[in-house]
Amino acid sequence: MAASSPTEANGPLATPRRILVVGGGGRENSLAWALARCPGVEQVWVAPGNGGTDLLPGCGALPIAETDAAALREACGRHGVELVVVGPEAPLAAGLADELRAAGLAVFGPGADGARLEASKRWAKQLMQEAAIPTAAHWSAAGEAEALALLRRLERPPVVKADGLAAGKGVTVAESMAEAEAAVREAFAGRFGEAGAALVLEERLSGPEVSVFALTDGRTMVVLPPAQDHKRIGEGDTGPNTGGMGAYAPAPLLDAAGLERVRREVLEPTLAALRQRGIDYRGVIYAGLMLTAAGPKVIEFNCRFGDPECETLMPLLGPELAAVLAACARGRLAEAPALTVAPGCSACVVAAAAGYPGAVRQGDPIDTAITVGDHLQLFHAGTRRAPDGTTVTAGGRVLAMVAQADSFDAAFARAYDGLAQVRFEGITYRRDIGHQVRRTVPLPAR
Ligand code: AMP
Repeated sequence: MAASSPTEANGPLATPRRILVVGGGGRENSLAWALARCPGVEQVWVAPGNGGTDLLPGCGALPIAETDAAALREACGRHGVELVVVGPEAPLAAGLADELRAAGLAVFGPGADGARLEASKRWAKQLMQEAAIPTAAHWSAAGEAEALALLRRLERPPVVKADGLAAGKGVTVAESMAEAEAAVREAFAGRFGEAGAALVLEERLSGPEVSVFALTDGRTMVVLPPAQDHKRIGEGDTGPNTGGMGAYAPAPLLDAAGLERVRREVLEPTLAALRQRGIDYRGVIYAGLMLTAAGPKVIEFNCRFGDPECETLMPLLGPELAAVLAACARGRLAEAPALTVAPGCSACVVAAAAGYPGAVRQGDPIDTAITVGDHLQLFHAGTRRAPDGTTVTAGGRVLAMVAQADSFDAAFARAYDGLAQVRFEGITYRRDIGHQVRRTVPLPAR
């Protein structure tokens, strides 16, 4: 039992044999898949998982909600879990990692204090300001009158952001003052519930966006290759925002020197500022960056992996991943083996249900005769097993097809070939994912 104590200072830093991943999306399945293939890992459970979890070698689903801390704790005891990896932000913000740590478990994921980096934009902006981390200028408002008065003093329409967790929907990049004002009024009218009870107005920046992930034990960090995702539903990056329709990594926008600059100017100071607040942050720091003419600036922090960036990155990470996440959870990252990163290109395309990001039909059977392999993965997201054993759609983003190759052209060709073998009623995906790094992007075949 001592081997799984999160505060254990001595003793061997063994690879965890039994791991629990908390969450039920494509991100969690890709984490489980990557952890299960690390030598020394015997079994990975995913709670609650989804229709694809039991299909992953060495993985199994547990029917426990990600919010049910007591049942998760009990399952960890019953299965002798030596590492818990929490995927989504909501349970982290609600203190799941704290509860599990209090029970003596090693947890990869920050406590509720550290999760404020994502759960409160005001808090995160203040931290950035105090630590001189490059980010957009901002103004906080706790009430409608204050926000409207602020608006009147601004020369250009700002970006209007709900302070709290709004499932990726709390941001309006206003094109006009009238649009900004409408966003302010809607937020205070309760559009985002409690999350919109306070707002942040931000200077609008411009430049390409890139995501950088650091794995940390609160003191040291490992920085992963940069990834770029596509948030819009439509080809040509048009239409409404989604949770993410695809991604690729490593994003050439940030070369080694650029990534080093992000580490020095953003990630290290963020970790230092967290520590200064007494926060022992063990998990992922996700920096969403805009590469402006004045250098990289933080658009947002998240306290977990991005989805689908996670699905894109996991196949590039080496067999040390389980040991590295466990070392982060135990506050001993400096002792962990170096995390190897495969040199190739990784491409991810998300298949969504018709209607996404609006309301979607569920329960359509999924037909996948595809053979996954070393360089092709199919991660289930919004799927479930029907009582008759078939796998059916159960959400907006249904599947993530991921492929690796020596070039982005070859990696995307492989991912799209894979998707051509997947069928369900209303399947929808963008054919231009990664257009920035592909030489030829086919016109829509519809
Ligand atoms: P967030 O939820 O904070 O990532 O914001 C969603 C999207 O809004 C980002 O991916 C950006 O495209 C855009 N955005 C957020 N903040 C800004 C900003 N200060 N300037 C320009 N665009 C922004």
